[in-house]
Amino acid sequence: MELESILLPGINDQRPLLIAGPCSAETEEQVMETAHQLVAKGIQIYRAGIWKPRTKPGGFEGVGIEGLAWLQRVKKETGMYVSTEVATKDHVIAAVKYEMDLLWIGARTSANPFAVQEVADALKSTGFQGVVLIKNPVNPDLELWIGAIERVYNAGIRKIGVIHRGFSSYDKKLYRNLPQWHIPIELKRRIPNLPLISDPSHIGGKRELIAPLSQQAMDLKYDGLIIESHCNPDAAWSDKDQQVTPDVLSYILNTLVIRDTNQTTENLTELRQQIDQIDEELLSILAKRMRVSREIGQYKKEHNMPVLQTHRYDEILDKRIGQAQEMEIGAFFMKEVLEAIHEESIRQQMELINL
Ligand code: PEP
Ligand code: MN
Repeated sequence: MELESILLPGINDQRPLLIAGPCSAETEEQVMETAHQLVAKGIQIYRAGIWKPRTKPGGFEGVGIEGLAWLQRVKKETGMYVSTEVATKDHVIAAVKYEMDLLWIGARTSANPFAVQEVADALKSTGFQGVVLIKNPVNPDLELWIGAIERVYNAGIRKIGVIHRGFSSYDKKLYRNLPQWHIPIELKRRIPNLPLISDPSHIGGKRELIAPLSQQAMDLKYDGLIIESHCNPDAAWSDKDQQVTPDVLSYILNTLVIRDTNQTTENLTELRQQIDQIDEELLSILAKRMRVSREIGQYKKEHNMPVLQTHRYDEILDKRIGQAQEMEIGAFFMKEVLEAIHEESIRQQMELINL
């Protein structure tokens, strides 16, 4: 993908790119007060939801268009860039009319290709020139996320970034939305130049988790953070447990350690060479094991024996897992590895028997 930088003019180019503001715009006073406090802390991009996608009807569903005028006032009075969530064509038209600089597509919208297409078409027809951030869909489906990115890209938008806000699950344990870090990491591997922003507020669902989740995102080389901040979090009309005051936000940001990636990479060269060497040994040992396994397959064929002999497999599994634990290798991991090796052995033996 040929993307343009999402760093709008004047934005500090140091990692992390920061976006902060309340979950929802509630009143003009709350929007202005929070904005003035945030700009005093050096925040350059303001967020506030105007249309709120709520799981059930009856909750606070956002103030609507009226709030866009408040965001426009934030832009004029503080010089911050402003952003909001869009989910329909009408949202996009209104957001463009009120000069929003960044728009994001929410997690429930990203999960719906019809809705994403509608938003993408509206971005194109309004000629939106700003940044579009695409949140991961609520369900852990990387292809669906990439599909949403492609729809926006195909609409001619080039200033694109993604937001990792975690994935829904039936059991809510530590996190409100499971991070499943491997999904955004795989996205970064597939589209390396796509800026990746973490949303620790929606992943954690609790104030206390914002700092550790933000640190984790920085250690995983994320480009930015979007964090919910409210001048009076306990009185927030939505997501109150996960919002922090601008003061607390600034404190959290100051505790972040941004590690210098270049230096560590150099120091790792020698260790990485060792890993390459070990991987080669691992591969040749695996190949050797498969050769022996094929010989066994040949024997089974000649003696008319079935390929799968479960008691022998159970024996191997128990013994190896025990040995692995003595070598400080996790039992679950060892079981997965052995099962994968066994599956490949069986496949090779079957192939041979069916020759
Ligand atoms: C939000 O950012 O306020 C929001 C509704 O987020 P999500 O789409 O991630 O639930
Ligand atoms: Mn929220």
